[in-house]
Amino acid sequence: MSSTNGSRSGAPSVLVIGAGFGGIGLGIRLKQAGVESFTLLEKADGVGGVWRHNTYPGLTCDVPSHLYSFSFEPKHDWSRRYPRRTEILQYLEDCVDEYGLRPHLRTRIEVTGARFDEESGMWRVRTADGEELESDVLVSATGQLGLPKYPDIPGLERFEGELFHSAHWNHDHDLTGKRVASLGTGASAIQYLPEIAPVTEQLYVFQRSPSWVVPKPDRPYRPRQRKLFRMFPWIQAISRFMVFLRFEILIGALTNARWIAAPYRRGYARRLEQHISDPVLRDKLLPDFPLGCKRVLISNDYLPMLARPNVDLVTEPVREVGRDRVITGDGVEREVDTIILGTGFQANDFLAPMEIHGRDGRELNEVWRELDGAEAYLGLAVSGFPNMFMLYGPNTNLGAGSIIFMLESQIEFVVAAVRQLAETGARWMEVREEAQTAFNREVQERLKDTVWTAGCASWYRTESGKVVNNWPGFTVEYRRRTRRPDPADFRLAGAPQPAGSGLQAA
Ligand SMILES: Cc1cc2nc3c(=O)[nH]c(=O)nc-3n(C[C@H](O)[C@H](O)[C@H](O)COP(=O)(O)OP(=O)(O)OC[C@H]3O[C@@H](n4cnc5c(N)ncnc54)[C@H](O)[C@@H]3O)c2cc1C
Repeated sequence: MSSTNGSRSGAPSVLVIGAGFGGIGLGIRLKQAGVESFTLLEKADGVGGVWRHNTYPGLTCDVPSHLYSFSFEPKHDWSRRYPRRTEILQYLEDCVDEYGLRPHLRTRIEVTGARFDEESGMWRVRTADGEELESDVLVSATGQLGLPKYPDIPGLERFEGELFHSAHWNHDHDLTGKRVASLGTGASAIQYLPEIAPVTEQLYVFQRSPSWVVPKPDRPYRPRQRKLFRMFPWIQAISRFMVFLRFEILIGALTNARWIAAPYRRGYARRLEQHISDPVLRDKLLPDFPLGCKRVLISNDYLPMLARPNVDLVTEPVREVGRDRVITGDGVEREVDTIILGTGFQANDFLAPMEIHGRDGRELNEVWRELDGAEAYLGLAVSGFPNMFMLYGPNTNLGAGSIIFMLESQIEFVVAAVRQLAETGARWMEVREEAQTAFNREVQERLKDTVWTAGCASWYRTESGKVVNNWPGFTVEYRRRTRRPDPADFRLAGAPQPAGSGLQAA
């Protein structure tokens, strides 16, 4: 134990940065545990996270609704198997109301940084408005896909037409009859391209590398089905479990049982034959890396869209952008009046641009730079940053499955940690460096056997190739390992106080 600050009585205060699925879920579980001393700080003017920020046409979840929702708050009347953006956003708004989170929520508050004060054992949090807030525990729930990534293409700033990122869709710009260039063919692009292709005069789809695309077994739920889910919630629970099981099997395909992916690969090759008559185009669309190395895409209308006469797939790299054109490496110039950047997110920059200073004033991004990329113990805690926890932190993303399942594991861990602080009266808890190092050595070792290190560039990896986003195993394993903080892996500081915490079992 390095410091013995005085003990604290009662539940610790908690500041949560972000009010997406992570922040909202944590708020609900803290409340259910009897912790009322928490605040959610959200920079946007409302809750929902990525489901509020992204508004591009066609935005739909690629995990069935029964699994892409909180286990403790099943919604029986989802309109369809794969929910659309507005329905998910409404679900989150309803959660906030139902569990009485509004009094705990402060919107339009952007956290710019935080500093741990060793003397008092408190976090001092700064906001963009210059406000300073204080809390015992700090939790970041800022997501992995919040910062749009802009490509570094010469001349992009010179472009005189309309240019926007898919995460900031310009709904005032009518694409009807326009010549449009769309850069990137990731999960967002594959959803908006089929929506805009029919109205554009010409659509150029710029692809850096192809992706494996699997079909989307989507369908609306009939009123009778919804009634059944409401009357017999166990039917929905079974449906949820079956979806969960299917994703766990898929995770096997991405980690160490690649033979499981064979039917998906064959299925994609068959659908290419079916929808794309041009063999050259078919070749361009067939990945030469294993399924899942880049994020697997799920769509029924992407391939038919590419076969449209007004759509061109361009695989030459973009060399530069002119006033009214996109120029590729082979010198071909394509005149366009709109450029859409479907170039994804800065997924490796966890918590940036916030500056978080831990013990001894060490800055988190600096620490991670020294480690050649972000890492944390179970994706949740970093040594040197006491009483700070991350939701959806490093190595907790999935190649297949619901992020909500992972978030719930992390939420239970944080609630258990808060309870432990309250019960022991300790000022703070900090993960031991040895535990963090051992965990990350194991994770990186296991990642070597996965598809994510099998020779493709993806947003899961840093420039040096380290996989910093993905969890290398099944989600049940993650659930088991995050059940509660292991006392052997954490050190507590402050006077022990074995008296009861007054908190309820959540
Ligand atoms: C377009 C898109 C589609 C997706 N589709 C799927 C899918 O189909 N299935 C799936 O499993 N996952 C999907 N994801 C991943 C998604 O990120 C997670 O499923 C989940 O929504 C993450 O929730 P979160 O609360 O951790 O983060 P977010 O939803 O990103 O919420 C973070 C919140 O923190 C706020 N915030 C950030 N920084 C600050 C700050 N400094 N101060 C204050 N507030 C701040 C943000 O405004 C935001 O509201 C998708 C992501 C995107 C971008």
